[in-house]
Amino acid sequence: MKARKLLMIPGPIEFEPEVMQSMATPTPGHVDPNFIESFGKALELMKSVWLCPAGQAFIIAGTGTLAMDIAGSNLIETGDNALVISTGYFGERYAELLKRYGANVDILRAPLGDVVPFDQIEAQLKKKNYKLMTFTHVDTSTAVLNDAKLFGKLGQKYEVLTILDGVCSVAGEEIRQEEWGIDVVLTASQKAIGVPPGLALLVASQKAIKAFENRKTPVGNYYCDWTNWLPVMKAYENRTPSYFGTPAVNLILALETSLKLILKEGMDKRFKRHLQAGKAFRSAIKALGLNMIPVNEKVSANTLSAPYYPERVTGGELLGGISKEGIIIAGGLLSEIKAKYFRVGHMGSVNRSDLLATVGAIESGLRVCNYSFNSGVGLKACQDILNDPA
Ligand SMILES: *Cc1c(COP(=O)(O)O)cnc(C)c1O
Repeated sequence: MKARKLLMIPGPIEFEPEVMQSMATPTPGHVDPNFIESFGKALELMKSVWLCPAGQAFIIAGTGTLAMDIAGSNLIETGDNALVISTGYFGERYAELLKRYGANVDILRAPLGDVVPFDQIEAQLKKKNYKLMTFTHVDTSTAVLNDAKLFGKLGQKYEVLTILDGVCSVAGEEIRQEEWGIDVVLTASQKAIGVPPGLALLVASQKAIKAFENRKTPVGNYYCDWTNWLPVMKAYENRTPSYFGTPAVNLILALETSLKLILKEGMDKRFKRHLQAGKAFRSAIKALGLNMIPVNEKVSANTLSAPYYPERVTGGELLGGISKEGIIIAGGLLSEIKAKYFRVGHMGSVNRSDLLATVGAIESGLRVCNYSFNSGVGLKACQDILNDPA
């Protein structure tokens, strides 16, 4: 019997075997001609996955938080006004980060499980001049989905640079960076991109690069500074060697593999598949009688779900029961309600069998906790959507 458990947390996710094979390639030097080709190709493929052909891609060793730091430090100078739209844990993180670089930060906070109303954001943009605005596409602490297209529109209308924290959405939720006019879309390797942790990934619009070039003061973070990284990215795109910091060679080989697999599936198909997985999983949770943090379907993420524990069911007992069934899911993250809910990632390579196995394990876990429900209702609801997505 297979001993390995299925990892259904919101990152790291389950990775494709081809990606893991790339990780096991004997490590080439960072100026090896074959590696230069892979690095250059990965940068190009990113722009296709991001749907931002005119953008500038960056691949830098680090986590998703580094990607946030890179965008923040390069675009903020002391005294700049920044607006953070917060739908949970990662919005608060962005506000703290921008303050370190001297930004005057205003935060608009959404009620738990909801988004900040559009009118409220627009009123704030009318009231004050901002250099940039950040928002979390999918906040991994609440599973709330923001309307990215709308933010792009607002940014264009009020001439504010927009930064989309897409760590839990890029290559899962629909993003059309160029068409929607979003200036920076950032993520990390271990989520829907499908590569082990260790790469900060972002694509910046030419407008964002220009804003960086027009800075009057040096970037307040040496490792993040685009002055160091832009020539490196451009060199690899032109298939010439360059160096600032040693690239994470094997991770970049794995990234090239994963991006190829993503584009082979096709972005439209991939967005639709995630939409269907999200819908099917939420349908199962609802059928089991559990509530979720997002207040309605429109603001529900498709890359992960965040259900509340039913009354008299404790996290330890339920997650333990689910783990016994061979599925790993995550506990809560938002401090105010941490012990009241759990999180299930369903992004990247997740397939129908994974979804059904997870719903089945949740049913088994609930049974162990003496929660009363009709056996199989979750599985049926999930399967009904998977069989008839329309
Ligand atoms: C995971 C995540 C991050 C942080 O990424 P790390 O790789 O853990 O630093 C930031 N934002 C969102 C939305 C995330 O889901």
